[in-house]
Amino acid sequence: MPKGIYVRTKNKPHSKERKQKIGEALEGIKNPRWKGGKQTIASGYVLILDKSHPACNCRGYVYEHRLVMEKKLGRFLKQEERVHHIDRNKANNIEENLALFSNDSEHRKFHLNLMTGGDRYGNIL
Ligand SMILES: [Zn+2]
Repeated sequence: MPKGIYVRTKNKPHSKERKQKIGEALEGIKNPRWKGGKQTIASGYVLILDKSHPACNCRGYVYEHRLVMEKKLGRFLKQEERVHHIDRNKANNIEENLALFSNDSEHRKFHLNLMTGGDRYGNIL
């Protein structure tokens, strides 16, 4: 058998190590679902793959709207800081559509004010 080529036999299931390697390969560009490291999650937010970011989740993704705000500010956001979408579209992450709040309660207050101004949805975006 040529060295370096793995052939699965009847009695030899994939080793743990081999399974991990397959998983890693699929995670990247070989995965047919690969979308250039950008994905939209059920809540409507856009995630960007950036494993080196200090605020990335366990799969290495960071919220795009937070990245855009960080680029604008030239610094990382604090965990408690909130980025608001001015047009309420969570997928519209251009700089001009984003506003920064120092914490969640300031952000919520702002939304409550919007509600008294006639917002019938009351969504926190
Ligand atoms: Zn908001």
